[in-house]
Amino acid sequence: MINQDDSRQDLAHEIKASTGIDFNCCLHCKTCANGCPFIEGMDYAPNAVIRLIQFGMEEEALNSSTIWVCVGCDTCSSCCPMAIDIPGVMDGLRHKAIKQGIKIAEPDILNFHTEVLNTVKKYGRTHKLEIMMRYKLKTMDLLSDIGMGLKMLKKRKLDLTPSKIQDKKAIGKIFKKK
Ligand code: SF4
Ligand code: SF4
Repeated sequence: MINQDDSRQDLAHEIKASTGIDFNCCLHCKTCANGCPFIEGMDYAPNAVIRLIQFGMEEEALNSSTIWVCVGCDTCSSCCPMAIDIPGVMDGLRHKAIKQGIKIAEPDILNFHTEVLNTVKKYGRTHKLEIMMRYKLKTMDLLSDIGMGLKMLKKRKLDLTPSKIQDKKAIGKIFKKK
């Protein structure tokens, strides 16, 4: 049973205004859901998240694991007959969830995003070794991927020291705008 919120248009308007994406033309053809490589890890299919927004089901949409599991690969939007930027919608929902202090359904994924952004902010580029180490410390999952990490180090897929861009001020400006 779906309980529609009386203010159901508010959420749709807000996400549309913040992302500039018109998802109301969604046909619910499920092409996005059928092609999504991460559908198994999601609680709602991508088109179902759009439906939640249309129904004003804010709590369900913002508490959904789907908005965090989505990696923004664009497989869905490139096949969508209405050219809807679905990862952009997910991004809008993630921003809203953080802003509202919602309990994040997949906190480890947010931790990972945060560590990636931290290295970009510091060096202007990602530093995979630092991302992995900080992420592992934060989640206290220290040993599960150690074999993979050692293999990557051996094959020189992980730089020990970060590579930095010259114009770090430009990066600072981008982060200030956010
Ligand atoms: S592919 Fe596009 S039109 Fe079809 S359900 Fe997904 S978002 Fe809607
Ligand atoms: S962008 Fe997100 S929803 Fe779309 S196919 Fe990729 S993981 Fe799935």
